[in-house]
Amino acid sequence: MLISFPIYSPEEEIKDPLFSKKNVRVYFKRDDKIHPFISGNKWRKLKYNLIDAQQRNINHLVTFGGAWSNHLLATAAAAASFGFTSTGFVRGEDIDNAVLSMCRLFGMDLQFVDRQSYKEKRNLFLTHFNDRESLFLDEGGKSKLGMQGCMELLDELEQDYDHIFVASGTGTTVAGIAAGITQYGLKTQVETIPVLKSADFLLDEFTSFGVDPAHIKLHLDYHFGGYAKTKPDLLLFIKEFVSKTGIMLEPTYTGKLVFGVYDLIMKDYFKPNSKILVIHTGGLTGYLGYLEQFNRLATI
Ligand SMILES: *Cc1c(COP(=O)(O)O)cnc(C)c1O
Repeated sequence: MLISFPIYSPEEEIKDPLFSKKNVRVYFKRDDKIHPFISGNKWRKLKYNLIDAQQRNINHLVTFGGAWSNHLLATAAAAASFGFTSTGFVRGEDIDNAVLSMCRLFGMDLQFVDRQSYKEKRNLFLTHFNDRESLFLDEGGKSKLGMQGCMELLDELEQDYDHIFVASGTGTTVAGIAAGITQYGLKTQVETIPVLKSADFLLDEFTSFGVDPAHIKLHLDYHFGGYAKTKPDLLLFIKEFVSKTGIMLEPTYTGKLVFGVYDLIMKDYFKPNSKILVIHTGGLTGYLGYLEQFNRLATI
């Protein structure tokens, strides 16, 4: 089976009085439109890994994630789409939620593991599976092949930008974008908003991907307390942005990203006439993990 599908991810300019006042132009690359469940950058990271599995006659995918992982759901949906079976190791105790329920719906077998065993992902894989029959896919789709898939985003761009912004978890996506910028010889500054606390570890990740860390600017002040942590400020920002633009965001990744870009614009980080591209990496099912927080917000 051909492991691919047409990519629909338009570039759209977003208007806001703030942007006119500060004399910047802001565009979104709508990777959230690529697929509802094989979302955004997760498809880009999976593509060459799945092609590699197919070439090696491997038809079972094994991967890892937290209980709200966009990568688990993307892997489950991609497995079902392209004729693979899949297993997902989930960090933490046996629970149920909307994302895990959808993983099961796509046929993924879920195995819950304690945090200690989860840390030894390779061991966990090797004790249950044979690496000639099953593909080990790291958490978040982190891989060199995943990075190569993310480089393809550059092939699609309709114009040049002064800055490209993307949220980072493992840093695979931003590393791919930076590699693409170098390959095309563009002057675009690649910038990322890490969603984890103490994200300096990303510098080593970039190096391991063969990307010079000096080519990626980290903005370390927008993690809101760490991975999947939020604050009322962030939730209120998301509510206002979504109601104003019709572009959906969630608090784990894209909410922090867009909050950071707005904050930097307000602080005059950008030169006048700058053109900024924000990568909307999708992952919108993550919103379902924050229903209570958003409902509580309505009462304050
Ligand atoms: C996984 C994910 C990211 C992080 O991508 P990395 O390549 O791990 O840095 C960003 N945004 C969304 C919506 C994601 O699901």
